[in-house]
Amino acid sequence: MHVPRMACELERLGSCTRKDLHVLCYQHHTEMLLTPVSEPREGLLYACREPGCLVRYTDSDGYFIGTKDPKTVEEERTPRVSCPNDAQPMYLAEVTPQRRSYRLWKCPECNASHTNGETSDGLGKSAEA
Ligand SMILES: [Zn+2]
Ligand SMILES: [Zn+2]
Repeated sequence: MHVPRMACELERLGSCTRKDLHVLCYQHHTEMLLTPVSEPREGLLYACREPGCLVRYTDSDGYFIGTKDPKTVEEERTPRVSCPNDAQPMYLAEVTPQRRSYRLWKCPECNASHTNGETSDGLGKSAEA
């Protein structure tokens, strides 16, 4: 009988609560799911739950496109936001439907956050009819 390796893997993941990130797909703004990976690799893999979405995220590499097709990879430009403290690739943690340009990025390492929301309150009043 094989010892179920999955149990070990999940246990290992479970013990790593610090890495329990709420990663959003930068395309769909839905929370990505932690996906157990069979091959040994650094970090944890998150995958978008939307059917057909190829957006993946690991805490070591940031966002990438989960395909081997170079053309698709080239067409999909993954956002590269680096932490100002440790240069780790940051993940999209929060969006606000009311402010379309607002993005909250977080660093998986030091938990630093970074927003690129434009100050639309007061200053940039769009008076376009
Ligand atoms: Zn997606
Ligand atoms: Zn950091």
